[in-house]
Amino acid sequence: MGKNPITIEDVLKNLKVKRTAQREALIRSAYEFAEAAHRGQKRKSGEDYIQHALHTALNIVKMGMGSKTTSAGLLHDVPEDTAVSLEEIEKKFGHEIAFMVDGVTKLGKIKLRGTKEEMYLENLRKMFLAMASDIRVVLIKLADRLHNMETLSALPEDKRKRIALETLEVYAPIANRLGIGEMKGNLEDLAFKHLDRKNYDYVRRVQEEQYEQRKKYLDKAVEELKKELTKEDIKVIDVFGRSKHLYRLFQKLKRHDMDINKIYDLVGIRIIVPDISDCYETLGVVHKKYRPLVGRIKDYISLPKPNGYQSIHTTVFGPEGKILEIQIRTKKMDDEAEFGIAAHWIYSEQQKTLRNLIFGKKNTRIPQDELSWVKQLREWQNELGKDNVEFMEGLKIEFFKNHIFAFTPMGDVIDLPEDATPIDFAYKVHSEIGNRAIGAKADGKMVSLDYKIRNGQVIEIIISRERKNPSRDWLRFVRTSLAKSQIKKSLKKDSFV
Ligand code: MN
Repeated sequence: MGKNPITIEDVLKNLKVKRTAQREALIRSAYEFAEAAHRGQKRKSGEDYIQHALHTALNIVKMGMGSKTTSAGLLHDVPEDTAVSLEEIEKKFGHEIAFMVDGVTKLGKIKLRGTKEEMYLENLRKMFLAMASDIRVVLIKLADRLHNMETLSALPEDKRKRIALETLEVYAPIANRLGIGEMKGNLEDLAFKHLDRKNYDYVRRVQEEQYEQRKKYLDKAVEELKKELTKEDIKVIDVFGRSKHLYRLFQKLKRHDMDINKIYDLVGIRIIVPDISDCYETLGVVHKKYRPLVGRIKDYISLPKPNGYQSIHTTVFGPEGKILEIQIRTKKMDDEAEFGIAAHWIYSEQQKTLRNLIFGKKNTRIPQDELSWVKQLREWQNELGKDNVEFMEGLKIEFFKNHIFAFTPMGDVIDLPEDATPIDFAYKVHSEIGNRAIGAKADGKMVSLDYKIRNGQVIEIIISRERKNPSRDWLRFVRTSLAKSQIKKSLKKDSFV
């Protein structure tokens, strides 16, 4: 098992935002706080628990996130797994960080159940809820899951399989939705390894062989291209051969009768240039040097993929007439392909959240390059909306303003209007739960039946074993028409008995 202990210095070293004294101080203090809280705890792998927090934080900075998200990442398991409470975190680090930690904790409580398809949609939806309150919570959760996947071998087989499947069905698609290609590929490959070891090993071997065979060839092509581009005065930032993620390659192989010779883009060349006009100029230079294959030129710059991906792809007859795929893009496009939504934190001048971007004031001008994200989220919303009408209105802040989401102890999400009570919650779960309600707990504490539920609380309804009738009094405080009609129905039925 590859243990890879890291320190807080490794996290700081990888910061993509400017490393200011203030940011560094915040991250260090979050680290010290988390380290003290987790001290003595071990992971199943035998490592100190703080290693998990550090690796999660490292994954977060690699996505380009700032000091607050990184600090929340360091602290993400503190309230759940140590004696230190969320209140203490809030006192020391403020509301914003505590809010993120709380969001990650809540997300962790959501149980993934049901059949594959149900699970997929259901949980996209649930993750979406968390995202709607703060996208950074989802990014921390992905970073957390990536490290859990990297250390999965320490767990027993059935647990490994369940977590790997969940990763493949839920987390990887979300990373894809957010355009974080690197995260998606890593999650898929790790899941693939645990779910289908035989094919994983096979694909890895094939890929290595192919890469070995083609490496010299690629080096030669890179050399030739560099020379041509310099001649044309195009400033190339980087040219490199690349290898595909294994799971994606496996999917491709399956579509091509497992015949590796039918896959042209197993290894290819990626050319990174300063700006968009350079991309098209480079394409011209490439085609002048190597004859293109007809119908294989894809311009995702003028027509980005739904998840915002931008690049030019072309397949050419390279040196010795061999087929070669070449991708051309700017540095910014490359970062976005890798880090997706997170890259916007690197590039956006004002450090605004996605929420502001989408829900911001009507007159706020949205920069052109950020529109693809908005478009993508709309598409996501449409997909979710297919079987849930309420989500059709989803991406409006007004919608979320008037709604709260509470969880059952089993992790199911119940959406309610603002000021809804445990009775509203109970009827939403099941009419019999409503009829038999005699008490309620919110986040484990007893509350009255007319208590106003707050967003994200876990609500437990205490029911009577005997048949019990709803109280007429409840009609005074319930908020949902569902609860009202059920209470009336039940009282009416009773009066006829
Ligand atoms: Mn964790």
